[in-house]
Amino acid sequence: MNSGSIFAQMNGNWIRWSEYRIHDGYIMPAENALMMMYDAVAERNEMLCYALNCGRRLAAKESAEEVCLDFVSHYGVIGWLTALPADIDFQEQQVTYLRYAGYVSSEKMVATKDYIACFFPQGSELVQNSIAQLTNRDAVFNKVFSKFYGEPVAWTATMLLALYEHYCCGEEMAKPDLSEKMARDLKRRLELKESLGLSMHISFKSALHCSYEMDSLRTLLLFTYSQAQCPADKQPSPLKRCKRCGDIYYNENNRSEFCSTKCRNHYNVVVFRERHRSDNKKKVK
Ligand SMILES: [Zn+2]
Repeated sequence: MNSGSIFAQMNGNWIRWSEYRIHDGYIMPAENALMMMYDAVAERNEMLCYALNCGRRLAAKESAEEVCLDFVSHYGVIGWLTALPADIDFQEQQVTYLRYAGYVSSEKMVATKDYIACFFPQGSELVQNSIAQLTNRDAVFNKVFSKFYGEPVAWTATMLLALYEHYCCGEEMAKPDLSEKMARDLKRRLELKESLGLSMHISFKSALHCSYEMDSLRTLLLFTYSQAQCPADKQPSPLKRCKRCGDIYYNENNRSEFCSTKCRNHYNVVVFRERHRSDNKKKVK
């Protein structure tokens, strides 16, 4: 299976508002924010790196609100409303079945009305009925992209941190001289099983036509991450850590070591100065 072709047939339309705010632990669009549409699939590699670097900031104990606001301001909300239900048509059912318990309730089954209400922290469920159409998505996305829709900061922070920690475990695993116990522990932590919300739509226009739809940025991130870290052709992962600043970046060139020219130049200047200094010391001796 060639993932490139799946991405090429995937509807990447996603909404980001020009500004977000925190309300009672929820991230939601700011009152005067303007709506913008972009192609999340086209930006998936940058988004993945951004997510990993946000995870890195969370691991360094930066404020979860600040980090999540930063991510969401760049890429829009994750879409937890549509990420959790087992069935994308949940809106039409009385009861919603969730893939995971522990987010909105300890049960995997919740009344749909109550489930949706969890994402409108101010009580108003006002939606703009044209957004789903604009993005070529199911009607339920009128809710996800509504100005009154909010998502708990904690869920997004937990997801970003977990993604980064998984990446770090992979790095650790690649190190030589691991003790047997450490290798066993890392192997266990690298085990990752998630169900992704990807629906398929085949229709006949002038020929058979297929399109894929992701339920959330969570699915897009995890899918992009798994494809990058576990390439089918056994090539090294294009996800790399910059030798100077420590940020994670995407580059398919195996020899790449720096996230930017700025970092490469900076690193080379430091190395040059150090070499110069030790040469001078030798001369003094
Ligand atoms: Zn760098």
